[in-house]
Amino acid sequence: MTPNSDPTVQPVPASVVRQVDDADTTLHNPKLAVISLGSNLGNRLEALQSAVDALADTPGLKVKSVSPVYETIPWGVDPASQPAYFNAVVLVRTTLPPASLLERGQAVEEALERVRDERWAPRTIDVDIVSYQDVRSDDPRLTLPHPRAHQRAFVLVPWHDVDPGAELPGRGTVTALLDALGREGVTPRPDLELSLPD
Ligand code: ATP
Ligand code: MG
Ligand code: MG
Repeated sequence: MTPNSDPTVQPVPASVVRQVDDADTTLHNPKLAVISLGSNLGNRLEALQSAVDALADTPGLKVKSVSPVYETIPWGVDPASQPAYFNAVVLVRTTLPPASLLERGQAVEEALERVRDERWAPRTIDVDIVSYQDVRSDDPRLTLPHPRAHQRAFVLVPWHDVDPGAELPGRGTVTALLDALGREGVTPRPDLELSLPD
């Protein structure tokens, strides 16, 4: 694949916004969503920052918090077979419905030249919706909460940093999940920082 030589995300057409019906009450009632970002190809920090910037540039979405950056051992694969990840979690408030938020995340992935290879293959960026308010869905196109978030320290650790009282709907508190799971494979990178655009 093409190296991520220019990770700047151009403004992605915000077609999603047109899907929000003016009569939709969610327009006046922003929902809290938790987004997990991961990168293990190219300039990982720039990819995370570009994703944060693109999310912040999304009409109908406000980025509330950006977590510290963690370096993490690849999950679900032979850890020796892939570069380490950088991961972070972003809290947003949004009037976009869940499907539109997913669409926006996928547009950001495309802009950063994400290639869909075999499952859990290396990627320039992965944008996953961890939770959307208390919405529950088992639709494979958008499962909410994310069906593997409770098993992933690389999601729970940065999420806990930005919202220590958070709860994963149907699974319990992030604190309790982390106590059960541990923090193995998730290393703080205090030398790196993502900025929250104004
Ligand atoms: P994982 O879902 O285990 O983290 P992945 O992020 O590598 O794996 P992708 O290739 O990014 O998987 O996405 C595969 C499909 O997952 C997407 O086409 C998307 O429709 C679907 N999907 C289901 N639920 C979610 C969710 N909560 N967030 C993001 N994508 C989701
Ligand atoms: Mg993922
Ligand atoms: Mg994904």
